[in-house]
Amino acid sequence: MAVEIPSRQLFIDGEWKEPVLKKRIPIINPATEETIGDIPRATAGDVKIAVEAARRALARNNGKDWSSAPGATRAKYLRAIASKINERKTELAKLEAMDSGKPLDETVSDIGEVVSCFEYYAGLAEGLDAKQKTPVSLSTEKFKTHVLKEPVGVVGLITTWNYPLLMAAWKVAPALAAGCTAILKPSELASVTCLELAEVCINVGLPPGVLNILTGLGNEAGAPLSTHPDVDKISFTGSTLTGTKIMAAAAQSVKPVALELGGKSPIVVFDDADMEKAVEWTCFGICSSGGQTCSSTSRLIVQESIAMEFVNRLEDWTKLIKISDPMEEGCRLGPVVSKGQYEKIFKYLEGARSAKAKVLYGGNRPENLKKGFFIEPTVVTEVTCAMKIWREEFLGPVLCVKTFNTEEEALDLANDSPYGLGAAVMSKDLEKCERFAKGVQAGVVWINCSQPSFIQAPWGGYKRSGFSRELGEWGLELYLNIKQVTEYVSDQPYGWFEPPPPS
Ligand code: NAD
Repeated sequence: MAVEIPSRQLFIDGEWKEPVLKKRIPIINPATEETIGDIPRATAGDVKIAVEAARRALARNNGKDWSSAPGATRAKYLRAIASKINERKTELAKLEAMDSGKPLDETVSDIGEVVSCFEYYAGLAEGLDAKQKTPVSLSTEKFKTHVLKEPVGVVGLITTWNYPLLMAAWKVAPALAAGCTAILKPSELASVTCLELAEVCINVGLPPGVLNILTGLGNEAGAPLSTHPDVDKISFTGSTLTGTKIMAAAAQSVKPVALELGGKSPIVVFDDADMEKAVEWTCFGICSSGGQTCSSTSRLIVQESIAMEFVNRLEDWTKLIKISDPMEEGCRLGPVVSKGQYEKIFKYLEGARSAKAKVLYGGNRPENLKKGFFIEPTVVTEVTCAMKIWREEFLGPVLCVKTFNTEEEALDLANDSPYGLGAAVMSKDLEKCERFAKGVQAGVVWINCSQPSFIQAPWGGYKRSGFSRELGEWGLELYLNIKQVTEYVSDQPYGWFEPPPPS
């Protein structure tokens, strides 16, 4: 059952505020192509007000209210947010399915992860105080040194549409746990649940300005946020192209950035893999979230001797996938998020066809779905390493296939990419899998599976997929500055200069 999309404003300084320019952006349901509501469209003026609010919140009561309050104080709010989201789990999952096109079963699971993420970082916030004043062992006894961990300050958090509330939670929860104050700028393509996070913050009485949420376009709201001189750090998840712009802009003021960018992840299947399990994980790796996960394993590298059988079996599995409105029970593949994304996929398929690749199956709108940005699971063979469809990320349920004969060849093909986010390997020979895990240039490696991620484990890329690590303790460190404190403890004068005679 569909739910009504709440009409919201920007969330600044603990209150709903109409955008300075009073503009809004329509929300299109990707399954029906209908406009189902709208979101506020923030611009530079709103960014300015939000950054000022976040600065005030950081310094309020000399920091004692938030940034230098005991971790347990902030943990209380994080747990309250988790609990409130959990209460609204079903409704939020429905909103996200309608907004993004992700199957309801997936958004239910994603919202569950959001709850766990806030709870997890509440735990780390509580543990933070005990980690203060960690002594550093020195090579002299004349000095004593310890380390303080302090919040980075005001942080700008810019996120994407493929896991709308979850990507926000991966940043908001550790940033607040660390004692930062934040401005979240979700993707204009799926902001609905992030605006509901604002409502949750109001419900739990989060101090004003600690979290501000600005919806809007990248160039109008994201860019002024990332260049604002009073923003101390930008944490960004999105495309590599936007990431380079953010990094270049940040370089002007030596503003630190955390970047989680695109991918074109390989899945390598050896002939000794368990066929059925490998086929299901391959299917999951390219069809979950409509193949629109940054780490979707969109390059299948399969051993020549089993390639035909594997691809045929994959077709058997994909034929049974229920493609439908994401709200329908049992849906496993919804529409892609937007018209722009939809057209992009067909452009890549056209390009591949004209470069003499073969669309083995799929590549069309399912016959029974006349409206919506739906595309069948698609397998493309006869691909060369020079083809755009092999090299470039475009996100969608489209799998390119190449074959190999030797282990070395498989690794070379896997590493033949400017990206390095995820990589999967399927084989019963665990030593072979470990060799692959060491050799592959990727920040996340899956052995005999593809895609699972865990709040406790680090997430991030190699090469042009970015360089930061979110989640786990690494995710908290992104929002902490390290301060060295050194004390001279010797009874003797330092003795570098000749002391003058007593006056
Ligand atoms: P995008 O780069 O177009 O947009 C991401 C965010 O940046 C949006 O909020 C957008 O409004 C904003 N933005 C756009 N231009 C900006 C600018 N000039 N300055 C500041 N902000 C700007 O990416 P997208 O299409 O929303 O997301 C898909 C991309 O995200 C894919 O490349 C995917 O692989 C990547 N992604 C990566 C991870 C990861 O963990 N590495 C996770 C999810 C998605």
